[in-house]
Amino acid sequence: MKDEVRVRIAPSPTGFFHMGSARTALYNWFFARHNNGKFVLRVEDTDVVRSSAQMIDVILDGLKWLGIDWDEGPFFQSERISVYQKYVQILIDKGCAYYCYCNPNDLEQERQAAYKRKEDWQYDRRCLGLSESRRQEKEEQKVPRVVRFLVPDEPVSYCDLVHGEIKREAKDIEDLIILRSNGVPTYNLACVVDDHEMNISHVIRAVDHITNTPKQILLLNALALPVPKYAHLPLILGEDKSKLSKRHGAASLMEYRKQGYLPEAVLNYLALLGWSPGNDQEMMSIETLIKEFDLGRINPSNAVFDGQKLEWMNGQYIYAMSDEELCERLTPFILEFGLLKRDEILARRTWLLKVCGLIKLRLKTFADIKDVAGYFFVEDFEYEDDGVKKHCNAETIEILEGFLSHLDTVKPYDAQAIEQAVRNYAQAGGIKAGRIIHPLRFSVTGKQGGPGLFETMELVGKEKCLKRMRRFVDGFKKE
Ligand code: GLU
Repeated sequence: MKDEVRVRIAPSPTGFFHMGSARTALYNWFFARHNNGKFVLRVEDTDVVRSSAQMIDVILDGLKWLGIDWDEGPFFQSERISVYQKYVQILIDKGCAYYCYCNPNDLEQERQAAYKRKEDWQYDRRCLGLSESRRQEKEEQKVPRVVRFLVPDEPVSYCDLVHGEIKREAKDIEDLIILRSNGVPTYNLACVVDDHEMNISHVIRAVDHITNTPKQILLLNALALPVPKYAHLPLILGEDKSKLSKRHGAASLMEYRKQGYLPEAVLNYLALLGWSPGNDQEMMSIETLIKEFDLGRINPSNAVFDGQKLEWMNGQYIYAMSDEELCERLTPFILEFGLLKRDEILARRTWLLKVCGLIKLRLKTFADIKDVAGYFFVEDFEYEDDGVKKHCNAETIEILEGFLSHLDTVKPYDAQAIEQAVRNYAQAGGIKAGRIIHPLRFSVTGKQGGPGLFETMELVGKEKCLKRMRRFVDGFKKE
């Protein structure tokens, strides 16, 4: 049982699910599944002001959307306050922690003043030396008190599974507060207690926490508890090389969901953002990722988030889908954009499947359906500006108008017959087929490019194609 891999994620509910937290979750989950271990979900919600049930849902929804399941939890730190207090008391009893009655504002002022002088500042342990009578006095006066950890005078070192040997001198570590004056523990204490009580074997988390690790190891040592292994994941940077944040517009996992990204593509992309299978393989299934995942191949240098690459990968996933699956997964977007009503989706399923097959290659995200293929569904689509300039001239309009009556006689109205009609018309008029094909596409779709024109026209339907061409021709004449 001792050797069992047990990992956890410990998100703080801050209102949105950062892509970095999603990747941390993913790597923990891969590692747990690869090793037949357990994946624990713990919500670090002791900051009551900043946490809410709604924010917790954001995290749970994000994990579920990615398909990450957990074996234990969610455990909520806010429900375990007395457990942490018990450990704080053990530290006090052992002489490893002490009460501090200093006014936080005074300390902050000292810190600021030192900062201005460009000097380092650390709490100077003035309350450690308080006599028992002075302490009693403060207690009687009900001076708010916190509990500080007495950092032992010994260097800490450990071997990070990503960054190698890490050493920190004790003198660089301040006597950290472990219990606030309101009785709520701070992050480091609660984290250490939970990692122990939840039997965590490997702590895999973002590198932002690497400076906390020596403090946590010292706390574990003071409590005579075993120390887990640590792996700190590189940061995810935006393209400007600063830490990926809301400012980049790419930091929120659920934003990708809204934009019509596939969870499996996001998962695949995130998996490779800081880790590689050791070869050039990019499109990897969840099963393969779990099989291949290895902490040893995490790249310690920070990773740059490449939105275009993610979009490309998403497009690849869409392209690989069956028409049926695409149809199903596009449905919420078709409804949201009002392209079809629910009963129409059912009634026109065969037609919709054909549209899906035709446009698959062109969708980078599900939400693209509106801009890339809206003309299959609605009449009030926009015409691309460039195309208007190119095709709105008397000569082209004349060619188009001439073709109207030919198209009207096409029977059966299918791609093959439409193509034949176009070619016959071009031949009879002594013009190249392109001179009809391009304006024809533009008048029927508003676009200069797209899937096969004849298949498109078949799916748009004869009546609508004729109407659209007529409208285009008449529009030009009016101007
Ligand atoms: N609550 C911390 C965070 O969201 C977790 C740190 C940890 O994994 O220890 O960053």
